[in-house]
This record gives sequence, structure tokens and C-alpha cells, in this order.
Amino acid sequence: MPASTPVRIAVHGAAGRMGEAILRAALDRTDSVPVAAWVRGGSALDGRPLSATFGASAPALSYTSRIPADADPHVLIDFSLPVAFDAALAEALARGIAFVSGTTGLRPAQRQALDEASRSIPVLWSANFSVGIALLSRLVAEAARALPDWDCEITEAHHAAKLDAPSGTALALGREVAAARARDFTASAVLTRAGAGTRREDGSIGFSAIRAGDIVGEHTVMFATRGERIELTHRATDRAIFARGALHAALWIAGRAAGCHTLIDTL
Ligand code: NAD
Repeated sequence: MPASTPVRIAVHGAAGRMGEAILRAALDRTDSVPVAAWVRGGSALDGRPLSATFGASAPALSYTSRIPADADPHVLIDFSLPVAFDAALAEALARGIAFVSGTTGLRPAQRQALDEASRSIPVLWSANFSVGIALLSRLVAEAARALPDWDCEITEAHHAAKLDAPSGTALALGREVAAARARDFTASAVLTRAGAGTRREDGSIGFSAIRAGDIVGEHTVMFATRGERIELTHRATDRAIFARGALHAALWIAGRAAGCHTLIDTL
């Protein structure tokens, strides 16, 4: 689409933390304009003006429980819940517009629905919209291919309230390493080490998790051999990176042909 035309975005899950962050990121730019802020029916925000959240400079737009027929978005960005996801995808399909989603916890049938939708509309789903993590996975794959015999260890650090370990992103990085070396990830991954009998096996991919304070998210992929090592590190210090990444994806995907795109494609 012409570079001078602002991309019109509709946000589904607009009342949520991510929805609000995406609207805020869009309002900070001149190349994107929110045309719909879609909230759950019965939400306290339904019918309220965006200015109630974003101040007087927000466009004259109100939160709605459906996208108005005349809103005419180029892209629908969905950061909601699996239970709300189907309606968002159906809306993008019905309007024939691009669909960007970061909703996690989708069922296999919902991932399949995304694939099927990509035959008619451009689709981009990612569990992690950090552009830096997308580039890190590409660099990690390249290093793993170039250094097939070097030991690989992945360290991640997150805030004290995180429930799962290792992080989904650490596991995804480990899968990149295994795939680049044509190895089976499950057979290579060592998720924890404690006590005797934990000596490193050649070709294994080890994981370590740190949980402390309010760390947003840090990942280091180390490749080591005798006498030298390489460490590739990404540090997230602000959750707004996910909103900016989703918006970046929306601006990239607007006007593209139907298909299943990834965040890596946008770099
Ligand atoms: P949140 O709980 O703050 O927001 C979820 C929103 O979905 C809420 O506003 C809720 O009202 C809305 N919703 C629920 N049911 C709905 C319905 N039927 N119709 C319309 N809206 C409905 O959560 P969040 O932190 O904003 O995260 C949203 C999603 O994004 C989660 O799945 C989360 O795991 C995911 N997430 C992804 C990334 C990424 O980089 N991909 C980053 C952060 C969060």
C-alpha cells in the first residue's frame, strides 16, 4: 500500500493489557490509525470514548463490542483469549482483511483454522512479538549450523511470578538449534540438572532458569568449545516491545497477498 496512507487497524481485546498497549503504540505513530477498539460484550469500556483511556488527543472513537460496519480496517490485531479468538478470525475472514494475532493457548483446531484462513487472507500469528527475539532465533539457527559440534546451553531469567520454566521462548530457541543441526529436540533437551550423573552429553541442549524480582525476560544462547565461546543474548526491559512488534507486523502485512506469514518474514 502507498507509504503515505496510514494503516487502519482494529484491535480485538482492546480492554486488555496488550490491547491497550497496541492502541497506545498506534496512537504514537503517524503511519497507523486505530479505527476500531473491540471489547467483550458487557465490558465496562463498551461505548466509552478512547479519550477516557488515552486522553484528549485520542481520536474521536469509542470502544465497541463489534467492529462498526463502516470502520473499514486494513488489519485486525487480536490479543485476547482462546475463547474469544474464533470470533476475531471469523471477522477478519468475513471482511477479507489481514489478521495479526498474539493470543496464546490456542487449541490445535484453532491453529489449523489460522492455516485455512491464510488461503484467503494474510495471517501472522506469533507467541512472542519481540522483534529482537525473532532476529535472535535466526542468529541462533545460523550459529548452530555453523558450529555443529559446539556445546549449546540456554539460560533464561524472568520475574518471580512466572509459573512455567523453562520459558516457551527458551524452548523455541532450543528447537531452532535442534532443527538447524537436524537433531531430535526432545531427545537432545536437558531441561534440568541436579545431583550426580548429570555430566553433559555430546549434542545435548541444556536449559537453566532464573526467577527473580521483576525481570521482564532475558535469554542467552551459549555455544562453547575448548578455549572459546559465543553468547547471543536478548534482554527485554519493557512489555511494550510486544505491542510495538505486533504493530510492526500489522504495518508490514497490510496490503500483502493471502498467506501464512511469520515475524521473521517481517525483518
Ligand atoms: P488480558 O487478560 O489483559 O486481556 C485479554 C482481553 O481479552 C481482555 O480485555 C478481555 O476482556 C478480552 N476478551 C476476553 N473474552 C473476550 C471476548 N469474548 N470478546 C472480546 N474480547 C474478549 O491479557 P493480555 O496480557 O492483554 O494478553 C492477551 C493475550 O495475548 C493472551 O493470550 C496472552 O498470553 C497473549 N500475549 C502474547 C504476547 C506475544 O508476544 N504474542 C505477549 C503478551 C501477551
